[in-house]
Amino acid sequence: MVATRRALVCGISGQDGAYLAELLIGKGYEVHGASRDAQSVPFTRLGRLGIRDAITLHSMVLTDFRSVLQTLSAINPDEIYNLAGQSSVGLSFEQPVETLDSIAIGTLNLLEVVRFLDRPIRLYNAGSSECFGDTGDEPATEDTPFRPRSPYATAKATAHWEVANYRDAYGLFACTGVLFNHESPLRSRRFVTRKIVSTVCAIARGEADGLTLGNLAIQRDWGWAPEYVEAMWSMLQAETLQDYVICTGETHSLEAFCRAAFEVVGLEMDRYVSVDPNLFRPSEIMVSRGDASKAARELGWRARVVMPEVVRKMIAAERAASSTD
Ligand code: NDP
Repeated sequence: MVATRRALVCGISGQDGAYLAELLIGKGYEVHGASRDAQSVPFTRLGRLGIRDAITLHSMVLTDFRSVLQTLSAINPDEIYNLAGQSSVGLSFEQPVETLDSIAIGTLNLLEVVRFLDRPIRLYNAGSSECFGDTGDEPATEDTPFRPRSPYATAKATAHWEVANYRDAYGLFACTGVLFNHESPLRSRRFVTRKIVSTVCAIARGEADGLTLGNLAIQRDWGWAPEYVEAMWSMLQAETLQDYVICTGETHSLEAFCRAAFEVVGLEMDRYVSVDPNLFRPSEIMVSRGDASKAARELGWRARVVMPEVVRKMIAAERAASSTD
């Protein structure tokens, strides 16, 4: 009989944590999830996916070594997915220290505890395309140098090299997925994609009369979160762990994303959208392009849902949710 594999998902209350937990449960894993305060977090995303009761939840603070050691010793996981930490680029300009601590020290504590426990635990680290900075027209690959342009990206770059160093120096089974933006109905409203979708639906219902955004010219690669967690899992199943870029390979402007949303509800974007320069970031990435061909070649992973299908699916979910509210 094959023993049940045990996974710990750090950041289980977030968008990716919820979809990853759903995927792992479907694969027969015993799933444990960590949150900074499991007693008070409502885990609404796990509730929405109907998997809240299938997960054992723990309180763990990644910046506290004792907390990480205690939790990992108690669970004894085969796989750990580090999806926790301050995740907003915009907020990182306001909270740079918290951002660096939660991402760089948090990841370091996980690596140190895994090393200390001396068991063949496989560790996935959530990296970010923000590390590349402005790519221009040259799609970023695993070999593209990092040029971070925010405290968030600086912290993610640090965590990336921590993982690479522990893999090289101590032979840890650890890797980083350098993921480009990925969206879903479970995306927090703090992020611009979800703000656009929610507000456009509210305008269509007659409950809002405008949408204020920052720089509409920025270009991003937006994928579908449930597919991106499949890539995370695949990375940890490989014989030798390596880092991978994960993206759709298609880049669109924020204006195109927004226009697609208005088109779905049959409204003319230019009547409703205004731009507020206060929402521009101190240093912005204008173009973010990626090339996930290594993941396609070695993991068999390819994005299936791309823009504007991402927008259509988010709007459909938003409308379904508001009709049952
Ligand atoms: P979310 O923001 O939805 O979830 C992140 C989780 O981390 C939260 O649920 C929270 O859990 C925990 N967290 C938040 N702030 C802090 C903090 N200051 N210190 C410690 N923990 C914190 O992120 P996603 O699920 O979208 O992303 C998962 C990971 O992937 C993150 O590391 C993110 O930076 C990274 N990433 C995401 C991309 C995307 O497009 N979604 C793209 C590239 C990388 P709790 O409150 O329960 O402790």
